[in-house]
Amino acid sequence: MHRKLRISEYDPLLHKLAGLFRAWAVKMLSYAGRVQLLSLVVNGMLIKFIGDSGPRDIRVPLSASVRDVTNETGWRLPQPRSDSALALHIHLTTVDLPLQDHTADTFHWVVESKECKGFSSSRTCEALRPRAQVKDWARSVWFSRAIPRQAFIMWLANLNRLPTKVRLASWGLNIQTACCFCNTHDETRDHLFLECSYSTALWLRIFARLDPNRTAFLSWEELLSWIRFSTASAPSTIMKLATQSMIYIWRQRNSAVHLIGFSPQQTTFATIDRDIRNAISARRHRRKFTTLMQLWIR
Ligand SMILES: [Zn+2]
Repeated sequence: MHRKLRISEYDPLLHKLAGLFRAWAVKMLSYAGRVQLLSLVVNGMLIKFIGDSGPRDIRVPLSASVRDVTNETGWRLPQPRSDSALALHIHLTTVDLPLQDHTADTFHWVVESKECKGFSSSRTCEALRPRAQVKDWARSVWFSRAIPRQAFIMWLANLNRLPTKVRLASWGLNIQTACCFCNTHDETRDHLFLECSYSTALWLRIFARLDPNRTAFLSWEELLSWIRFSTASAPSTIMKLATQSMIYIWRQRNSAVHLIGFSPQQTTFATIDRDIRNAISARRHRRKFTTLMQLWIR
C-alpha cells in the first residue's frame, strides 16, 4: 500500500522535532556555535516577523550575527517603535543569552534523557513516533513466526480497515455490495471471513485438525479469543498461523472482484495447508518442530 502521508500523521513528529531542535540549540551549542547557527536565521526571522523593514527598524545589518546584537548583559537593540518590535523584545526576554565562553562545540545525542553513543535512528524513531495503546490482539498478529504479508492483512482485518464492498459503498462508491462468493449477503469483514459458506467450509477443515468440537464463529471477538485459547493439541503457534492463512479468503475475494474468478475451497485449503507446513518446516531446527508438524498433519 502506498499513499502520501497526511499532515495529521507527520505533524506531531514535526512539532516534536522543532521542540527538540530548540532545546538542542539552546542547551548544547556554545557561544560560537550559536552565533553561527542563529546568524543564519536571525535576519530571516526578523523579516518574517516584522516585515521587509525588520532589519532596518531593529538596526540589525543583513549580515549580522547574534554576536553583533548581544553582549554580556543582554540584547543590544534599539527601543521598540512598533507592536511587532515590542513583541520581539518581550520574546527575547524569554531567550537565554548565549554562553560567553569560546570553547569548542561538542554534540551529544540524547534520547529520552539518556545519552546515546552516537546517533541511533531506531531509538530516535522509537522516541518520536506517535504511539497508540497496544491492542490486546497485537500478539496474535505480530508474533515471531508470522508470515509478514499475512500478518499485515490480518492487522488490517482486526482494525476492520480492509476495503470490503460495504466499506467502499460507505465511502460513496456506486457499487454492488453483494458478497462475490455467495451473492446473497452484503460483503462485510465478518461475513467474508466468518459467516460466508465459502469461509465456513475452510474453517471446518481447520477445526477438523485443531479443534474438532468447534463450530463457526459468531463474531470477530470470538475468533480473537479462540486464537488466544491454546491447548496441548492446538498450540497457539498453529492457531495463529491457521488464522492468518485464512487471509487467502481475501486473496480469492480480490480475484473474484477483478473478474478472474475464485478457486474452489479445496484448492484454497490446499494452499493454506502448504503455507502452514512451510511455516512449521522453516523452524525444523527448533525443539517443538516435530510436535507441531504432527499436530497439523494428523
Ligand atoms: Zn458470502
